[in-house]
Amino acid sequence: MNSLTRFWTSQEIYIMKVFLPIILGFLVLFIGLLVVSALAFWWRHYRLWHLGKAESRSDQGATRFKTLVAVTFGHVRFWKELYPGSMHFLIFWGAILIFLGKVVRLFSYPVGLTLPPQDIFKSASFVSEIGGILVIVGGFLAVYRRYILKPSRLETKPTNTLIYLWGVVLLLTGFFIKGYRMAVIGGEVPDWSCWAPFSFPLSRFFLILPTDALNELLVWHRVLIHALPAFLFFAYVFITRTPLQHFFLSPINIYFRNLRPKGVLLPIPNFEEAETFGVREISELTWKQLLDLEGCTNCGRCQDVCPAHLTGKPLSPRRMTQNLKEHLRREGPKLLATPVDQRKPEAIMEATVGEDELWACTACMACEEACPVYVEQVIRNMDLRRYLVLVETKYSSEVRLTLKNLEKSNNPWGAARGTRVEWAQGLGVKNITEVENPEYLFWVGCVGAFDARNQKVATSMVKILQASGIRFGILGNEEGCCGDPARRIGNEYLFQNTAEANIGILKGHGVKKILTICPHCFHTLKNEYPQFGGEFEVIHHVPFLAELISSGKLKLTKPIDKVITYHDSCYLGRANQIFEAPRKILNAIPGLKLVEMERHHQRSFCCGAGGGRMWMEEHIGTRINQMRTDMAIATHAEFIGTACPYCLTMLFDGIKEKGKTETMAAYDLSELVIQSM
Ligand code: SF4
Ligand code: SF4
Repeated sequence: MNSLTRFWTSQEIYIMKVFLPIILGFLVLFIGLLVVSALAFWWRHYRLWHLGKAESRSDQGATRFKTLVAVTFGHVRFWKELYPGSMHFLIFWGAILIFLGKVVRLFSYPVGLTLPPQDIFKSASFVSEIGGILVIVGGFLAVYRRYILKPSRLETKPTNTLIYLWGVVLLLTGFFIKGYRMAVIGGEVPDWSCWAPFSFPLSRFFLILPTDALNELLVWHRVLIHALPAFLFFAYVFITRTPLQHFFLSPINIYFRNLRPKGVLLPIPNFEEAETFGVREISELTWKQLLDLEGCTNCGRCQDVCPAHLTGKPLSPRRMTQNLKEHLRREGPKLLATPVDQRKPEAIMEATVGEDELWACTACMACEEACPVYVEQVIRNMDLRRYLVLVETKYSSEVRLTLKNLEKSNNPWGAARGTRVEWAQGLGVKNITEVENPEYLFWVGCVGAFDARNQKVATSMVKILQASGIRFGILGNEEGCCGDPARRIGNEYLFQNTAEANIGILKGHGVKKILTICPHCFHTLKNEYPQFGGEFEVIHHVPFLAELISSGKLKLTKPIDKVITYHDSCYLGRANQIFEAPRKILNAIPGLKLVEMERHHQRSFCCGAGGGRMWMEEHIGTRINQMRTDMAIATHAEFIGTACPYCLTMLFDGIKEKGKTETMAAYDLSELVIQSM
């Protein structure tokens, strides 16, 4: 057997020799069509994204590239869930291997006529075979999951089924054709059989056919039953809008991901001159927000972790993103075809997103944490709220009251400004102006100052600071709301005024280091005040306490013989990555036994108070705080530990609402520290 006939049948060699120009022409045409359709694909999408507003995402190229490689090729964000993670990994890498092997073999046809690259051909065959096997295993897992397990987060459209069926046809015909070719080459075992572990056994099946029949079957089999469907498949993927397009679009979204801490909102540019605020229509989203819509794979991971969705509110981040994608694809081409001054785009809130849906968001970032391709939901939701609040003044009476209180009294409850410092009476806490060389400003926050339960937390913290000999002071009645509720509700105007006033006061007192017991104040002061020139060193009390304990300045000696579970606050954990410090504190308390809830660390479940929802009733579905309390109850813990006044309030209420006050209690970590000192 010469080298050519080891790989191709004599009829194929004959056809290649006779029709070489046609084969080459076909290859060129194929590649040309592929290039043209790929260019048309990218051009269409590029134009759609350019409908959006400018946004800079060109910084930190090396970090972006590393993430792209790790997430796309290593699937690092997929492994949080083993089943769908491994399923996707197998299909992804299988498809890549098939494609690589295919390209090498495709080009070896014309090259092989004079110089058969046998080793390359064999290796390419092997690579494709392994790829095919991976896709079959991954595909089986996918079909089983989608059609038998049917998780509620998956939306199955006819196009999904069509792609599965088409994939099966392509894989099977690929294997059968190769097996068939081996059978025709000769009955004996070809020396490259081990390079085709799947097709070779199939070739034995073809040997039961008479040789004539084999040859009859041969001639255009390749084109008709494999190449043509494969070509049509590519055309279908590129030209129509199939879910498989995420293969090309999601990596771009990953590259341009947000590199700021999660949940940081940005100011409205040129606020004073702006004619409108927030987002009314699709072209008022930024190009990255439009790319987000196209990069979304509809996998539903975000929906599975969304507290609003899981408690029956009309919000699913998956559905909202997909609906906006449809909206973009409906509206986008119309906008592109109309001169800018004649465009009349539909309002998103009229066409696609419902008001209850939008207000249900707690800005907890669980969806963003879960999203494998870094789709950003929170800023988009807040942009939509900005339009409703600042332009349409459309919001509930609860929101109206909260905003009024913030404007008039500088706190969400509307308590008189002069009463902010009442909690500290008798504690010997000094105003910052009375402390010589203060090390820290203790920023109490509205909840710590006005909410009876959280005043105890502020008190504990004061006692710890005094016991540790730390020089600190408070702003007293000069302290105002940090602005988090106003900003997350959508009143950017009020937020900016509040932030600028606070920054002026802090700078006026020469404050450098701020210590706070509230993750919302912490996040806003640390990550958002720099947008307005407020650069301070902001420390949350939990890492601060952990440091005091580990340095030996705080000694915890009194045992607390209880089982405790810790609730990670969204703005301490997901937004600012503080996960271990609270656990260090709990583990340092003698007798205390920590058990984790079903959802903890990055996957923690919101208490229901973020995004301004602390001051809104939950009129739809079950209460989020109750669902979180149920998760704590399931651990059989006696205590719930928190590090956030919002969470403490919500869990305190949750325990009462669940009738568990006899067996369970919620504490801030500072309260446990003081008990153990
Ligand atoms: S931020 Fe939280 S509540 Fe809002 S959509 Fe995402 S998961 Fe749901
Ligand atoms: S936003 Fe992300 S997590 Fe949600 S469906 Fe789209 S890709 Fe999946």
